[in-house]
Amino acid sequence: MSEVNDLVLVNALMRQALVAIEEVMGSKGLHAVLRTSKLDHYIDHLPPDDLSPAIQAADYARLNEAIEAFYGRGGRGMLQRVGKASFEYAIRNQSALFGLAGVALKMLPTQARIRFVLTRMAGAVKKANPQLLVDVEETDAGFAYVARVCSLCYGRHSDKPVCHLYVGSITEGVRWATGQVYQVQETQCIAKGDPCCRFVMTAPKA
Ligand SMILES: [Zn+2]
Repeated sequence: MSEVNDLVLVNALMRQALVAIEEVMGSKGLHAVLRTSKLDHYIDHLPPDDLSPAIQAADYARLNEAIEAFYGRGGRGMLQRVGKASFEYAIRNQSALFGLAGVALKMLPTQARIRFVLTRMAGAVKKANPQLLVDVEETDAGFAYVARVCSLCYGRHSDKPVCHLYVGSITEGVRWATGQVYQVQETQCIAKGDPCCRFVMTAPKA
C-alpha cells in the first residue's frame, strides 16, 4: 500500500459530500466529477450512512480536485458552497454525532458560540475519523481551526491553499452558531508544504 492510500475515512463523510455536491451541482454535475475522479461506482450508489472506515482519503481529495478542475476559476466558490451544504446536511442528519441537539446557544455570548460550534465540528470529525488530527486554537487574534492531517488535500500538491470545502463548512458553522458571516481564510495548507491546514476567522465589520 502506498503512503497516499494509508488514510481512511468513514462512509458517512463521503455520503455527506456526495449529497452536498448533488445539491449544489445537480445530478449531472455530480456524475461528471465522479467520472473524472474515477469514482463512477458511486453514480446512483451512495455509500451507506455509517461509521465504517471504508473510504480512501485520496479518493475524497481527488473528488475535491475534480470539482475545482470542472469549474476552473469558479471552482473555489463552488467548493465553498458544497462545504456549506455539507454542514447543513450534518445538522439535519448527524446532530447526534455533533452533539448539537437541544443546545441553548442563544444564551451564550458570541465568542462562546464560536468556540462551541468549532469544537463540536472538530470533535465530530475526530470521533468519526480518529486518524484526522483537527483542533481549535484560540488566541488574542481570534479562533483558528487547524487540521494537521487533512482529508481534503490528502496527497495533493498545489502552490495555493485548496481546502475550500472546509472554508465553506466553517463559515456556515459559525453563521449557524452566531447569525453572523465571518470571513474564513485558509492561511496555511498542507498541499503547499505547510505543516497544517489553518483556517482563521475574522469578525464582520460592525
Ligand atoms: Zn489545506
